[in-house]
Amino acid sequence: MSDDKRRLDGSFVRSIIPPPSKPKKDGIPLSDLSERDKPWDVHRAESDRIEQHYQGTEFQSYADRIHFCSDFLDFILAPHTEGELRLKLYSARFCRVRTCMVCCWRKSLRWKAKAYQMLPRFIDDHPAYRFLFLTLTVKNCEIWELRETLDWMNKGFTRLSRLKAFPGEGWIKSVEVTKGRRGDAHPHFHVLLGVKASYFGRNYLSQKKWVEFWQKSLRCDYKPILDVQALKSKDSLVGLVAEVIKYQTKPTNLIGHGRAEDRDWFLEYTRQMHNTKAISVGGIFRDYFRELEKEPEDLIGRDENSDDLDEGHLYFGWKRKQKKYKLID
Ligand SMILES: [Zn+2]
Repeated sequence: MSDDKRRLDGSFVRSIIPPPSKPKKDGIPLSDLSERDKPWDVHRAESDRIEQHYQGTEFQSYADRIHFCSDFLDFILAPHTEGELRLKLYSARFCRVRTCMVCCWRKSLRWKAKAYQMLPRFIDDHPAYRFLFLTLTVKNCEIWELRETLDWMNKGFTRLSRLKAFPGEGWIKSVEVTKGRRGDAHPHFHVLLGVKASYFGRNYLSQKKWVEFWQKSLRCDYKPILDVQALKSKDSLVGLVAEVIKYQTKPTNLIGHGRAEDRDWFLEYTRQMHNTKAISVGGIFRDYFRELEKEPEDLIGRDENSDDLDEGHLYFGWKRKQKKYKLID
């Protein structure tokens, strides 16, 4: 084809010069429109990495489910403060795979919201209660021993809670597992404990006593590491409950960097954690916080009176390569 002919060939011209009337479409990123929706990009990108870990393994069905999790988000513009609108999630599809980071994040938001609703009732009923924050650990275990180790720790906690000197009247306990430097696993419990005011008088337990009781309850031959903090004022209680709940939903450090050993570790972690309990509630807290033991059904967080907001939809799609949600026209 001569140069002249090329100039006359419309398809050739179109392929190299975009027509001025039709600019290249690239939707506005969700993160540019809404500061508070920035975590969507972060967690969806993490879930992409998890999906890759599961591809072609016994967990292929998890990979498939995670792939389509929240790939399309339907938001509405809802009134927030006077004269201000903000994006509010209206609908999305969630995979509910336990290790999916998007689902973990949504669950933690729902749990937090529930805890905020329930706390004032507890405080009204028990104004004299004080709170402790316990971290109970054991020596790191191999990843393939994780399930067994958690069983043993749970039995230990039950024994601890039955000791005569145990001051907890109620507790919320969450399980956190982090990856150790040697590629082992570091399981530990975070416990929010409600105690009577007398704990800070005649029933006080020193750190040393706590370690002694935890060791006795575990029936182990070493002094396990334990941390105990007293909560100073009720103001931060809400934050603390949120902390306890958050712990079991931040497995980011478990994903690793795409190396074969990271993948093997994560697959074993998935096997070991299957059907284990994330949060348990005991003692008098059961009457108030029992719901925290259940998986939240609604991961959207709908308002009860949101019927009148069913307009002004904005749709965002997950752009895998760009790692961003972008507006769809
Ligand atoms: Zn998901």
